[in-house]
Amino acid sequence: DAAMARQGEEVVSRLLEHGYEAYWVGGCVRDELMGRPVDDMDITTSALPEEVQTVFERTVPTGIQHGTVTVLSGNYAFEVTTYRVEGAYEKHRRPAEVAFVRDLKEDLKRRDFTINAIARDLDGNVVDPFHGKEDLNRRVIRCVGDAKTRFQEDALRMVRCIRFASVFGFGIAYRTWRGLFEERENIRHVAMERFRVELEKMMAGSKPSRGLGLLYRSKLPAYAKAPFPHASEPGWIGLIDEIPPGRVTVRWAFLLLACGLSADEANAHLRDWTFPNAMREQIVGILNVGEAVKAIGDTLELRLGWIRIVLRFGRESSEAWLQLADTLSSGGAANDYPIGVIQNGRTWTEEMAVYRMSELAVTGKDLLAASGRKGGPWMGEILNDLLLRVASRALPNDKNRLIEEAKQVISTDE
Ligand code: ATP
Ligand code: MG
Repeated sequence: DAAMARQGEEVVSRLLEHGYEAYWVGGCVRDELMGRPVDDMDITTSALPEEVQTVFERTVPTGIQHGTVTVLSGNYAFEVTTYRVEGAYEKHRRPAEVAFVRDLKEDLKRRDFTINAIARDLDGNVVDPFHGKEDLNRRVIRCVGDAKTRFQEDALRMVRCIRFASVFGFGIAYRTWRGLFEERENIRHVAMERFRVELEKMMAGSKPSRGLGLLYRSKLPAYAKAPFPHASEPGWIGLIDEIPPGRVTVRWAFLLLACGLSADEANAHLRDWTFPNAMREQIVGILNVGEAVKAIGDTLELRLGWIRIVLRFGRESSEAWLQLADTLSSGGAANDYPIGVIQNGRTWTEEMAVYRMSELAVTGKDLLAASGRKGGPWMGEILNDLLLRVASRALPNDKNRLIEEAKQVISTDE
C-alpha cells in the first residue's frame, strides 16, 4: 500500500539523516520484486537499538535483545532491526544470543534463503550478494551458504523451505533439497507451534498440494516432535487446491480426512500440533458433520436428517462440510455419503426457519408455566422436537401455537 511505503521511506530517510545505514530487507523486498502485495516492511540498519530509540519519538522495544525496535510512524509500524549475526545454535534452534555488526552483508548472510537475503535502499538499488534476484527469476529456493549447515543450525528452515516452494510454486535447488533430506530427523527439536505456523502459511497458499507432496517426500511430518500421519488417500491431495485459500479450516479438515483420521483422532492431533482452540473446534466440527452425515444412511428421511445435523453442529460447520463434500465429489471420492445431502444440503440449509434453540419462540420456562409440571429431561426432548419441526417448517415459529403443540405431546405422553 502506497501510504505505508511513503511512511517507510520517512523512517529510512530519518535513519540516513542521522548518519546510519538503513535498508528494506527480507520478505518485503522479495514480495515487491515478485509483484506480490506487501503487508509488513522490515528495515535493517547499522544503528544500534538504543540509537534507533533516540532517533524516533514513538518506539516499542519489541525484541531489544535481538536488535528489534518497532518504530511507529503515521498509522504504521515498522520493525527496525540492527545488523546482526547469530550466536551459537543450540539443539538445532535459533539462538537467543545475537551479536550486532556494522556490515550489511554479514546480516544478509545469516538469513535463510537467497530470495530472503536481498536489501533495497531508498533509491531502489538492491544489495544482493547471494544472487537472490537470479533465484527469483529462476523460481528456486536456495539456502544462503551450505544447506546442510544452515538446516543443522536451525531445523525450522526446512519447513520454511517447503512453505516458500509451495506458496510461490518454486522449485528447490538440488543441494538445498539434499541438505534437507540429510538433516530431516532434526526437525524433532523444533517446537510444534513454530512448525504449525509455517504449515498454516502453506495451507493458506494457492496450491497447498505442492507443499504437502514435498512434506511427505521429505518425511518431515513423520520426524516431527508431534508426528503426523501420512495421507492414506494421496490420490485426493490434489483436490485440496480446489478449496478456496480463504477456507483454511475446510482445507485442514480435508487433509485430516485424507489421512484417514476420525473426528476424535483429528482432535487429538490438532491439540498436539498446538492449534488455537477456536480453530481446532472449527476443524473438528466439520469432521463431526461428515461422520453424522455418513450415519444418516438411507434409513431416515435425508432432509430431516440433515436439518438435525445443522441444529446439532451449527450452520457454519455444516456448510463448511458441504464445501468439503463438493470437493470430494468433484474427484469422485464422496461415495461414503448420501448423494442427496451433497446435492441439496445448501438449499435445505438456506430454507430452514431457525438454526438454533435461542431462535425458537418458546423457552423451557414457557413450557413449565404452561404445563404446570416440574422440569426434567422431558423438557429437552420436547424442545428439541419443536425445534426440528420449526426449523423444517412443519410448524410456524409462533409462541402460542408451539405451547399448544407441547401440551398435546405432554397429554399423549400421560
Ligand atoms: P512472510 O511473507 O511469511 O512474512 P518472510 O520472509 O518475511 O515471509 P519472516 O518470518 O517474516 O518471513 O522473516 C523475515 C526475514 O527474516 C526473512 O525474509 C529472512 O530473511 C529472515 N528469517 C526469518 N526466519 C529465519 C530463519 N529461521 N533463519 C534465517 N533467517 C530467517
Ligand atoms: Mg515477514
